[in-house]
Amino acid sequence: MDRDEASKRREARQRKRKRALIIKLIVLILLLAILGVCVFFLIRSTRKDQESEAPKNQEETVEPTPEESGTEPDAAVEDTTVEPTQATGDKATLMQEAEYLAATYDYDGAIEKLNSIEGAAQDQEITAKIAEYQTTKDSCVSVNMEEVTHIFYHSLVVDPDRGFAGDDSLTAGFKQWMTTVDEFDKITQAMYDNGYVLVRLRDLVVQTTDENGTVHFAPNTELKLPAGKKAFVMSLDDLSYYHSYDGRGIASKVVLDESGKPTCEYIQADGTMVTGAYDCVPLLDQFIAEHPDASYHGAKGMIALTGYDGILGYRTDIAYKTHENLTSDQQAWLDAHPDFNWDTECAQAKTVADAIKADGWEFASHTWGHMHIGDADMARVQSDTEKWQNYVAPLVGGSDTIIFAHGQDLADWHDYAADNEKFNYLKSQGFNFYCNVDSTQYFLQIRDNYVRQGRRNLDGYRLWNDVHGENNKTSDLFDASQILDPRRTDVPAL
Ligand SMILES: [Zn+2]
Repeated sequence: MDRDEASKRREARQRKRKRALIIKLIVLILLLAILGVCVFFLIRSTRKDQESEAPKNQEETVEPTPEESGTEPDAAVEDTTVEPTQATGDKATLMQEAEYLAATYDYDGAIEKLNSIEGAAQDQEITAKIAEYQTTKDSCVSVNMEEVTHIFYHSLVVDPDRGFAGDDSLTAGFKQWMTTVDEFDKITQAMYDNGYVLVRLRDLVVQTTDENGTVHFAPNTELKLPAGKKAFVMSLDDLSYYHSYDGRGIASKVVLDESGKPTCEYIQADGTMVTGAYDCVPLLDQFIAEHPDASYHGAKGMIALTGYDGILGYRTDIAYKTHENLTSDQQAWLDAHPDFNWDTECAQAKTVADAIKADGWEFASHTWGHMHIGDADMARVQSDTEKWQNYVAPLVGGSDTIIFAHGQDLADWHDYAADNEKFNYLKSQGFNFYCNVDSTQYFLQIRDNYVRQGRRNLDGYRLWNDVHGENNKTSDLFDASQILDPRRTDVPAL
């Protein structure tokens, strides 16, 4: 073999080796690129999942941190170290969320949540949980619509020394109509201990709309609870913090806490203002957060609002803007608040109302002027309803429910007649659910064109008479002697 031949062969071998190395490098680069793209999409999809599962109100309040908002897409690719633990974390989180739903008797929701976990069908822990939820669901029994009670409260008295001070008719009213914070907390606990579960009035029915746009109602046979549990409905009346309540030791306004949840402003005896759970909404929210099985599918109560002094402690009625027909306490309030801006006030009230709804509460009309609707003539019913629709409905997103003020109904307990003018007018205004006050245990009418329920007052009058009178009307719910606030001394007549 000559030298030329040998060097040619060596060169050829080197070229071959070089080519092989280049091919290997290209393959490696391609593989790395594919891996990079995969990791990027994986992280993006897990982030999306987490976002879509975050509760709505959190989504609205959580601001992106500066680092997050400045994150470039390729910066996310570098963030691969969190990826392996993320997958197990997701399963644990979703299983926890499913457990919460099951605790609220939403077994279908819980099972759906579990099935959304990747590889659910092959995961023994998950399939066992699904079977458990299904068994519990199958063991539930339909709620007997004839035995669903409806309780209601007014704003709670935080400080009875102030709430029950004096001997005028307003004091008598406070002693009769109001419940103290201690009484409310004890009732909530006692009813929970006795197996009561809060449901929405609308949970009791199936509502359908036909091709003409007419709504129809039928009993909801799918409303089921574990055997021994009892459904009840709740409402709150007059959550307006009327001017006449000032200085009476009750909350003054619903506001939002730092996480966007409803809480209360309360002015203490020394004039200082504090924020906290001083009324039914945040107190019940707290209780249900700690006892998810106190409420069916996260149900809360229905809040009945008038409009004449505004809503929720906000002075939103049109009179505060036009200064027409002001009462003396409205005028005094405006004089004390020279910087008042009606539009800002309405915007704040709407923000708070939205947060209350996001929390599961609903709003109802209590008539704009706290009207005796049975006694009023048609012209008055119409002008009052128009005011509610114009100055309350836009702030709370409208309502299909009317909770009659003074408990005064449109007619007696017989079905609403087809020629009942007030009923037909209210129907034309979109009201389908009607509530009166009726201290019997149960009063529920589910009719094709409306739903009507009687409500029981759990107030000073009722509690006092259940303990000191002859006719105890709340023994099915709790032992009133364990509830009645010892700071009550009497319940004078109005
Ligand atoms: Zn009222």
